[in-house]
Amino acid sequence: MPAAFRVAFPFLMDRPDPPPPDAAARGDFIREIVRADLAAGRHGGRVATRFPPEPNGYLHIGHAKSICLNFGIAREFAGLCNLRMDDTNPETEDLEYVEAIQDDVRWLGFAWDGMFHASDYFEPLYEVAVRLVRAGKAYVDELSEDEIRAYRGTVTEPGRESPCRDRPAEESLALLARMRRGELPDGSCVLRAKIDMAAENMKMRDPLLYRIRREAEHYRRGREWPIYPLYDFAHGLSDAFEGITHSLCTLEFENNREIYDWLLAAAGIEDPPRQIEFARLALTYTVLSKRKLLQLVEEGGVAGWDDPRMPTLRGLRRRGCTPEAIRAFCDAVGVTKAQTVVDVGLLEHAIRDDLNAKAPRVLAVLRPLRVVVESWPEGRVETLDAPSFPREIPRPESRPLPFERVVYIERDDFSEAPPKGYKRLAPGRRVRLRHAYVVECREVVKDERGEIVELRCVHDAGSLDPGADAGRIAGTIHWAPASSALPAEVRLYDRLFADPEPDRGKGGPDFRSFLNPDSLRVVAGARVEPSLAGAAPGERFQFERHGYFAVDPDSTPERLVFNRIVALRDPWARRPAEPEKAAPAAARDQEAGKGEKPEKAIDVDDVAPAARERFRDLRDEHGLLPHEARTVAEDERYSRLFDEATAAGAVSRAAASWIANDLVRELRGRPSPTPLFDGAALAELVAMVEAGEVTTTAAREVFAAMVAGEGGPRAIVEARGLGALAGEAALAPHVESVLAAHPSQIEAYRAGKTALLGFFVGQVMKATAGRADAAAVQEMLAKRLG
Ligand code: ATP
Ligand code: MG
Repeated sequence: MPAAFRVAFPFLMDRPDPPPPDAAARGDFIREIVRADLAAGRHGGRVATRFPPEPNGYLHIGHAKSICLNFGIAREFAGLCNLRMDDTNPETEDLEYVEAIQDDVRWLGFAWDGMFHASDYFEPLYEVAVRLVRAGKAYVDELSEDEIRAYRGTVTEPGRESPCRDRPAEESLALLARMRRGELPDGSCVLRAKIDMAAENMKMRDPLLYRIRREAEHYRRGREWPIYPLYDFAHGLSDAFEGITHSLCTLEFENNREIYDWLLAAAGIEDPPRQIEFARLALTYTVLSKRKLLQLVEEGGVAGWDDPRMPTLRGLRRRGCTPEAIRAFCDAVGVTKAQTVVDVGLLEHAIRDDLNAKAPRVLAVLRPLRVVVESWPEGRVETLDAPSFPREIPRPESRPLPFERVVYIERDDFSEAPPKGYKRLAPGRRVRLRHAYVVECREVVKDERGEIVELRCVHDAGSLDPGADAGRIAGTIHWAPASSALPAEVRLYDRLFADPEPDRGKGGPDFRSFLNPDSLRVVAGARVEPSLAGAAPGERFQFERHGYFAVDPDSTPERLVFNRIVALRDPWARRPAEPEKAAPAAARDQEAGKGEKPEKAIDVDDVAPAARERFRDLRDEHGLLPHEARTVAEDERYSRLFDEATAAGAVSRAAASWIANDLVRELRGRPSPTPLFDGAALAELVAMVEAGEVTTTAAREVFAAMVAGEGGPRAIVEARGLGALAGEAALAPHVESVLAAHPSQIEAYRAGKTALLGFFVGQVMKATAGRADAAAVQEMLAKRLG
């Protein structure tokens, strides 16, 4: 390493705290290498790593794996870890992302030793380039990009040498200087390393080092630099400048290692860093690519980078996940060379495991049913003392819980005709109200439509002490006192994608086609116990029998808002025999899950015996997702509707998705469980979506109207004006009015905040109630904004 760099980065000589005692505990192959290097006295006994994100998006859980690894190793081996913005691509980077990345790394629990920007190295990088040219190790090539590609050869054939390859160093130097001064237009030439056009590793066939981007504006360097170094050139040298010893990156860079080593040797770097690759984190039901996540944000598939369904650290944080849980998850995943896909259930497990000991238990009723305890005197309130943690967690906290004559219980905790094995309330049965009395149901009150509006119960005055013999009870259910319970909005988040492998890469279906339509359900009329008054954003609780919840930043003292962090046990995994078949998805969600069952995808065993053959047929012959196949198979009405729709030409998976998700949701809480349309109508809707006549968003509204009996899809689209807006003429008025309403955002966009494109797209989508073709809108906006 040139002495000047050592002087420029004197912190590299400092030695921090001694390693924590758990250093020896973790034994992945990278730590083995570090340990061996230390034992052999390499790098003068130093360990230095870095986390090098490109500031072109928000960090996701995949980045957390890299952060935990790099910062973890530095911590365990008394080394250093830098945070470096890999910001050598002027087109996509932004200060907003730099700040968010810093914030997320800190939130995750790490502190960097040095904070650097590759864009600060433009000068020393250029000096190295000049030295390489002088030494005959690099040249300026005037072939076009296409020619360079054609000259590169193939895996089986060697490449051809460019006619510029052997030009005198002086000539290359002069051209490089002109590139640097901004005298040459984009694409007119590039700087290439002179290595070997016949190398077996195609990356070694004279890789590009610099390209011209004269018009681009870098978010930090402005227009100072008309040329930009490429990844292979900038990355290894940046590592060297900072005195990094172990440069950890993901497997797709394996073939770049040869360039990495060649370059550092050619540049005369002493004691060069070593690149080591590990498998990147891949998760089921999840997309981990900044580009695709950005697409979701821009198209309005999610509410933003911090949407609680996003796998970003922002999203996980807003959802209520703790940094400890994410670190524990990364630890559990470990570091290997073998690329595998980790079950997202493992992340959910880590979250539950962490919150189990931290989140106080409270009572929350999501869909309240009024219960009048007739034996309890009018106006009397007894304040009970309820422990906030179960016995197995040694924490002493408790909270006051007022019991009174009128309470709410969960609608699903009562059944007029209870199936066998039902462990909740039913006419003539007794249940314990959690932390309070045993009550018995004496009467069911209904409205004129036959819907249950209230239960009349009596309580057992001697049953408060849970040790006392209260006689036979069916089970224990949660409740909330009617007069003092607080109204709340509860956002039930579920997996963003309904398919275990939404990102199938090139040639596969678009990842967006796997979006789970049920990934957010908002329960508006919930009631939570009064001790939650004043709960602040970020506070976490366990709603007993429901799951873990966090207070959302949208929450106000008047209207609390809770996000479901994770259900108590995985509703996507094996379901215990459940006699209620009417609304499978809903019932599953509402189930009182206690304790964790082994996690496993839905299989034949999880399906009601009578429906198993049908399930197999739907899953294996029609290719339905297992949970959708089960929902359709187990319900005769759904099954018939599915057959009619596919007979009328609907694609099986599309028909199943409408039935198993939207129909189940729409029928929930309706007195008549029979859909008021037939399979042909559903097939017509599917065809209309396919043909682009309605957007998916608008189709939801159409579908709800169909369920409500408003007629066929075409009639509804016409009556409600829900047809898709495509084409310039239809979109222009909306695009123009959005632009007119946001002059300051336009200014910011033109000043380089191009990430605002997503904002504009979102506004147009909003203005058209989701009827616009998002891709067309984006294209028009990009053109209009220039
Ligand atoms: P994406 O494909 O999501 O855009 P990236 O690799 O382009 O990811 P960078 O900002 O370049 O994103 O990544 C910074 C660091 O994080 C790199 O060292 C990269 O290898 C690492 N990283 C990114 N994604 C993952 C992942 N899924 N698992 C482990 N490490 C990752
Ligand atoms: Mg990258």
